[in-house]
Amino acid sequence: METSIKCGKCGKPISGEVYEFKGVKICEDCYLDEVIASQPKSCAMRR
Ligand SMILES: [Zn+2]
Repeated sequence: METSIKCGKCGKPISGEVYEFKGVKICEDCYLDEVIASQPKSCAMRR
């Protein structure tokens, strides 16, 4: 039986890896978005 987990952010069924962010199951794309959004804006790239 196939488990269909929907992304708690974009609502699409997650076919690949399921990530969890703040208790919400989300897809990889949304997870990366959240991780990037939650990071402090510091200069990652050095001049
Ligand atoms: Zn998503």
